[in-house]
Amino acid sequence: MTSRIELKCREKGLKMTEQRRTIAAVLSDSTDHPDAAAVYRRAIVLDPRISMATVYRTIRLFEDCGVLEKHDFGDGRSRYEETSEEHHDHLIDISTGTVIEFQNDEIERIQREVARQLGYELVDHRLELYGSRLPQENEDSG
Ligand SMILES: [Zn+2]
Repeated sequence: MTSRIELKCREKGLKMTEQRRTIAAVLSDSTDHPDAAAVYRRAIVLDPRISMATVYRTIRLFEDCGVLEKHDFGDGRSRYEETSEEHHDHLIDISTGTVIEFQNDEIERIQREVARQLGYELVDHRLELYGSRLPQENEDSG
């Protein structure tokens, strides 16, 4: 099986070794924005010969090629996700670290507007919301 990230790397002319292919597959299959340690834990299940150093090097390589995006969600650990065509922003649950993706047209519009008012055309932005989950209303308790 050829993963999406592997395909993108090949399009960019990157030489794909077996270990790079495995790490590419792990990252393609991850939807939770893992850090390097989590990528390593998942990779060694598939190939125990992969080292942490190889994971770091490969992540860096993928990042430099633009197939992987790095995030800093405020806990000092770099987190990674496959670069996507579709723009989205993130909400981070501060007690569990869970990362929730969202899209909001109104926020996008306001950001473009703010930039324009300052005399700029918006070309990129990053938005992270940090939240604490609201208590859930229990509909059964009447
Ligand atoms: Zn994301």
